[in-house]
Amino acid sequence: MSPRPRIAIVIPVFNEEPVLPELFRRLDAMVATRPGEDWVTVFINDGSRDRSGALLAARAGAAAGTRVLELSRNFGHQGALAAGLAHAADSDAVVTMDADLQDAPELIPQLVDAWRGGAEVVLAVRRSRQETGVRRLGFDAFHACFAWLTDFPIETNTGTFGLLDRAAVQAFNALPEKHRFFPGLRAWLGFRHAEILYDRQERAAGQPAQTFRGLVRYALDGLFSFSHLPLRLLTGAGICIAFLGFAVGLFFIVRRLLNVEVAPTGFTTVATLVLFLGGVQLIGIGVLGEYLGRVYDEVKRRPNYIVRRKTGID
Ligand code: UDP
Ligand code: MG
Repeated sequence: MSPRPRIAIVIPVFNEEPVLPELFRRLDAMVATRPGEDWVTVFINDGSRDRSGALLAARAGAAAGTRVLELSRNFGHQGALAAGLAHAADSDAVVTMDADLQDAPELIPQLVDAWRGGAEVVLAVRRSRQETGVRRLGFDAFHACFAWLTDFPIETNTGTFGLLDRAAVQAFNALPEKHRFFPGLRAWLGFRHAEILYDRQERAAGQPAQTFRGLVRYALDGLFSFSHLPLRLLTGAGICIAFLGFAVGLFFIVRRLLNVEVAPTGFTTVATLVLFLGGVQLIGIGVLGEYLGRVYDEVKRRPNYIVRRKTGID
């Protein structure tokens, strides 16, 4: 590590016009307290439809060390994050955070101090979160499911907010996959981890940029790219049903041989069985399809993002 380490802050931005001035102010205030480090901010304008692009361009003209990547359209949070990390690999460490001030810039010094203390990946772990209602329920259900399903442990209660050492950033950038679930991949990478605790704030202004549908897709990406358990569960269900079928068959054969004929079983039983088995098979095909669709996306090898314009980057 050089005596004056260079630290990049990567921030995806999608329609964040109302929060950007406040974000810039608080970032500047934070950087002013850290004279011992060189700071670079990498903003990714992920196809914003409001004036975020203009605000970022103005910022790039006014504040030294500002990089702006403009993507050719909205590629989503994960694509934007990947773009930012790819254009921050020349730094000694990279902080990743959201633009909406749910992750307080004032916590960045704690992340950096943990890194300077020897950690290679620093996670900001949420002690509390502000979301309520369906969204909150969704987050909780997802984390519970995820912990149970995945093949290796991923710290729950972490999101984008954290810090990666240069080596970890390079390893992340070298990953070829298209469906990216950042918290999972960060855990998968390994390296020496440290954690700091924080209270996740309410978004400073505006609406969550990620739609509920987007979050569900993100959650499914997380589950399917880190677990084969859904497939194994299907195998298990198949074996159970086959055994059941075998037992029921045996029962009828024995009854027939012993000539104990009771009233013939009726239409209801048959209909129930057919529908039940049809349902199980369709679920099975659906789960297979989830994996197959992801395999298809991966083999197409399309990039995660396309950059229209770069400012402040050689
Ligand atoms: N974001 C993005 N592209 C998108 C959606 C979101 O770059 O398509 C950015 C957004 O500007 C914010 C971060 O990703 O900086 C997290 O988005 P949001 O606050 O909507 O997510 P949540 O807090 O609900 O997880
Ligand atoms: Mg947010």
